[in-house]
Amino acid sequence: MTKWVYSFGDGKAEGSAAMRNLLGGKGANLAEMSSLGLPVPPGFTISTEVCTYFYDNGKQYPDELKAQADAALAGLEKALGMKFGDPSDPLLVSVRSGARASMPGMMDTVLNLGLNDVTVEGLAAKSGDPRFAYDSYRRFIQMYSNVVLEVDHGLFEEILEHAKDEKGYRLDTELTAEDWKAVVAQYKATVEEELGRPFPQDPQEQLWGAIGAVFGSWMNQRAIVYRRLHEIPASWGTAVNVQAMVFGNMGNDCATGVAFTRDPSTGANLFYGEFLVNAQGEDVVAGIRTPQPLTVAGKANSDDGLPAMEEVMPDVFAQLMDVRDKLEKHYRDMQDIEFTVQQNKLWMLQTRTGKRTAAAALKIAVDMVREDLITEQEAVQRVDPSALDQLLHPTLDPKAERTVIGRGLPASPGAASGKVVFTADAAEAQAGKGEAVILVRIETSPEDIHGMHAARGILTTRGGMTSHAAVVARGMGRPCVSGAGELRIDYAKKQMFAGDKVVKEGDILTIDGGTGEVMLGEVPTIQPQLSGDFAELMGWADRFRTMKVRTNAETPMDARAARKFGAEGIGLCRTEHMFFDADRIVAVREMIMASTEKGRRQALAKILPMQRQDFVELFQIMQGLPVTIRLLDPPLHEFLPHTDEEIATVAKAAGVDAEALRQRAVQLKESNPMLGHRGCRLGISYPEIYEMQARAIFEAAVEVMKKDGETVTPEVMVPLVATRKELDILKAIIDRTAKAVIEESGRKIDYLVGTMIELPRAALKAAEIAESAEFFSFGTNDLTQTTFGLSRDDSGSFLKDYQDQGILDQDPFQSLDTDGVGELIAIAAERGRSSRPDIKLGICGEHGGDPASIQFCQQVGLDYVSCSPFRVPIARLAAAQAAIAGGEAALRKTENA
Ligand code: ADP
Ligand code: MG
Ligand code: MG
Repeated sequence: MTKWVYSFGDGKAEGSAAMRNLLGGKGANLAEMSSLGLPVPPGFTISTEVCTYFYDNGKQYPDELKAQADAALAGLEKALGMKFGDPSDPLLVSVRSGARASMPGMMDTVLNLGLNDVTVEGLAAKSGDPRFAYDSYRRFIQMYSNVVLEVDHGLFEEILEHAKDEKGYRLDTELTAEDWKAVVAQYKATVEEELGRPFPQDPQEQLWGAIGAVFGSWMNQRAIVYRRLHEIPASWGTAVNVQAMVFGNMGNDCATGVAFTRDPSTGANLFYGEFLVNAQGEDVVAGIRTPQPLTVAGKANSDDGLPAMEEVMPDVFAQLMDVRDKLEKHYRDMQDIEFTVQQNKLWMLQTRTGKRTAAAALKIAVDMVREDLITEQEAVQRVDPSALDQLLHPTLDPKAERTVIGRGLPASPGAASGKVVFTADAAEAQAGKGEAVILVRIETSPEDIHGMHAARGILTTRGGMTSHAAVVARGMGRPCVSGAGELRIDYAKKQMFAGDKVVKEGDILTIDGGTGEVMLGEVPTIQPQLSGDFAELMGWADRFRTMKVRTNAETPMDARAARKFGAEGIGLCRTEHMFFDADRIVAVREMIMASTEKGRRQALAKILPMQRQDFVELFQIMQGLPVTIRLLDPPLHEFLPHTDEEIATVAKAAGVDAEALRQRAVQLKESNPMLGHRGCRLGISYPEIYEMQARAIFEAAVEVMKKDGETVTPEVMVPLVATRKELDILKAIIDRTAKAVIEESGRKIDYLVGTMIELPRAALKAAEIAESAEFFSFGTNDLTQTTFGLSRDDSGSFLKDYQDQGILDQDPFQSLDTDGVGELIAIAAERGRSSRPDIKLGICGEHGGDPASIQFCQQVGLDYVSCSPFRVPIARLAAAQAAIAGGEAALRKTENA
């Protein structure tokens, strides 16, 4: 016979915390607390399997359920020496829903069930407190009518308000027994009026009505929507808990409350919570009266100065502290608890793992290791890597006042304040004078990079989470709010309009890239704390992880930031960003304009020393750590001038005719540049470009080795390779250049030549390509783009439809499509290793900083991940978790074998 019902109470239980799937979170933990000997009112849990059965069988219960529930109820009656429905001393119960995962949208709890016109008199006589009895009855009628009979609760509130007004009462607690009796009569009349039948008086009917309502609520609209949003399968079902009532509304030695065993916002090891005297159930959170703090310390932090439980109920407070201690020792994590005090005795009604901020998660994990509650490995697993983002950037002081004038997308986390500027050049100029500036643009383009760098934060009025501004800002670690559509910019007037407010150039603005808020004036911020607990946890993570973590960086500033965050080298240095630099762009354009190889070489000769200096600085900052440099990738037209003024400047510098220049720009324009003349295809057409870059790299390596005595091993990376032949031709140029520099300098240089794997063909032909390539770096931005045939710059407008219709779970440009793109990576890794067993494998691109993608990289056996500087700590933690998960998987395998 199937067991559908599990009893708990009196120091024992048929269930346990481990039976969460069967008993739901609430039921499993009530059972666990009961077994621990904590004071839990006895009760029983009807399992989630009943819910599943109910929906699989045309909303019928299993045959044995009634008998099992009756037996459990009889057990309760026996334990308490009371009877359900007894006119002189009635047992009352609560009926509470409880799914596996906490689920708002499920049926609300019904308290005081079992009361009727007769039993309420029994309760009054037995307790000697008719006020309490009728207060309980009116609560029951209101809750039951609302959640089970679906009568609008507003009707009851109106009646109560009216009753209070008549008597001139302010608080519910002022109503007398007679007052409540009158309210009860009106409540019942209302129910009868609404439903055309009287409020149910039979306790059995009440009980099964409430149980049925819980199971029914599993399929209500709210619950269905919530499950869809949180990917909770409908098949899980909910459990129902029936539990003997304890009363917090019996007088001034009674109370109800909620608490966290530690501060959920800071993580401080301080008991934190609130309670209300002479109250029941959710009164604390319902805002009926102002709740009181539990501790004297909590009182010091509140404005109301209400007395703390520690002061007014010291005995109960001691019981609660004892429970807190036992729960933390047992669950080994911060708990969120609900309790009730009946005549100075504490009763526990719920415990669960407490939700917390990222800062609290970090502090609690590290503290608990120090307290010997958890291991370092568990601490590493407890902190969500993505949440670290919050900790790595300045955040707004939550206590500070703010005037929000607009809202956009939270495109890159962190808060920043500064003077408003409307052009990248102004940003650079002002920042050069030591001013903090916020760059405000309708949208940004590659031409704005220098201004974005110089600015403290970036605000755009157009563009989504993957707009240029958003992607670049995230990469740089600059706070960014994008697409704040209600703000309007007038570049000519150098003004921005927010409704009737005008923001002029030079005005101070604050943006919060974590929330998308735009605020007037300077809002104080709190600086991130990278030492202390953070460093400690990161240190543990580093011990567990097996993959290296590198960074994508090309500027000294980014490289330094990445080192500070623990990067172990550069996985992607995009040389084109160096070409955009204001003082080089002219020479670069000259090179592009040259119609002969000789002309190109002349221009390249001007770029060489600057490019060499770039690499010198990066090598120096990286102190011997590996640096992967990608040769020029984007199509040449990206560097060409747009405005007449720019064209004139370049024409003059290059000694060419402005009209010729304009024509060249037209000539270079491609209809599909993403698939056009870019990457190694440029090197094939103009080998002298890659030759210059290779020379810059090797000369820089020699210079740093001579100056600093550091061993530099550059990794030269050829982009967008589709065939081995391309790589062979370009590798020959690189090798030849290396040989020349070695001969000229008399220094030996160790270096690697490898390629990006960013085209499906390259992934498929990886065995062949690996014969020439000493490393692969998966360029998953382009690989995603080319595998899906989906342009990253254009997908924003329709990707949402794909997510809404469940075609794609998430944006494949943010989290790796492990199914499809991932299969190509797995194929390439395997085939690459087949011809070169020691081939170095890494990933660069946005996915290198995404925890789920990092997990996949671990499974495929990559040697490293590379991500933007500010994501390095996230990647370190995610890599550690992936390694731990992988290790556990291996362990499980051997156990089964
Ligand atoms: P939720 O899941 O919305 O928190 P609960 O089932 O936990 O709903 O019930 C809400 C509150 O009702 C509890 O925090 C507690 O104060 C009160 N409550 C529930 N069951 C009982 C009971 N048996 N005795 C006294 N109070 C109860
Ligand atoms: Mg609640
Ligand atoms: Mg609760």
